[in-house]
Amino acid sequence: MAKKILNIKRLSDKEIYELSKKYGLQAKAWRRKFVGLLPEIQTRGLYEKHGFFSIYEYAAKLGGVSKKQVQRVIQLEKKLEEKPQLKSILINGETSVNKLIKIAPILDLEKEKDLINKVKNLPCRTLETYVRDFKYERKLQDQNGLFEPKKRPESAHMSTLFKIKEVQKINALGLQLDENIYQKLLELQDKGININEILKNALEKRKEEIETEKEDLAKEILEKEESRIKEGKLPSKHVSVKIKKHLKKEHGNKCSIKHCHKDATTIHHTARFSLSQSHNPKFLAPLCSEHHNLAHLVDEKYRQHKNRK
Ligand SMILES: [Zn+2]
Ligand SMILES: [Zn+2]
Repeated sequence: MAKKILNIKRLSDKEIYELSKKYGLQAKAWRRKFVGLLPEIQTRGLYEKHGFFSIYEYAAKLGGVSKKQVQRVIQLEKKLEEKPQLKSILINGETSVNKLIKIAPILDLEKEKDLINKVKNLPCRTLETYVRDFKYERKLQDQNGLFEPKKRPESAHMSTLFKIKEVQKINALGLQLDENIYQKLLELQDKGININEILKNALEKRKEEIETEKEDLAKEILEKEESRIKEGKLPSKHVSVKIKKHLKKEHGNKCSIKHCHKDATTIHHTARFSLSQSHNPKFLAPLCSEHHNLAHLVDEKYRQHKNRK
């Protein structure tokens, strides 16, 4: 024992950090394997044969696994009845129960192979975002009737009702209008002037302004980048303040994915920077960390590069 302590004391900070990281990873992996076996142990009633009152007691005493976690894995295993590959990932402890639970809502909506790819490559929170996006897209398509070929007239009627309700809800929404603006709009409205038309025009004008600014900035940056190349300089690694300001004007502080309300953390190059070597604002998008991970999901080369770092 004393010898072991001495050995640890002799390790450098880096060595002891690496060692603890390795043990941590191994602990997690073995724990996943333990959890993966629980449904089968439950089915065979093995816990009883070994003197445990329940599968929960068994899991807690042998593996330090909580009751909630046991319930989750047993439920999940049932859900994966018709997904043999995903089920084997669970049983072999190749991925965490938490991750597999995240994809449960879209189990029948996507190919098993694609789901496995995502479960294996995406962190848990990114997976959650992916599923949310998937459901959101699906809902939009549903609303457009793509998945309801036999739409009954009643439901069409219902959707009109729904729209009316929606408008009322918007009126009640707390837009932070200045008292002045609010009064002016109210005055105009009282005169029978269409204030929605006025606002719509203002929004369209804003959009056009942003488009024009983007075009100008794109031209400017492309010229700059070209002349850098001519001078034999390496491309700049950074997005200029000017372009950052422009993106902020367009997207505010948030992720540029339409329905995402998270803060943007990265300016993503939609045309991969390592290939394009360009900061053309037409191909820049502020993203939250989850959507940034998703944006790179298909980008195998990027992932390998990141893993090597
Ligand atoms: Zn990126
Ligand atoms: Zn996002």
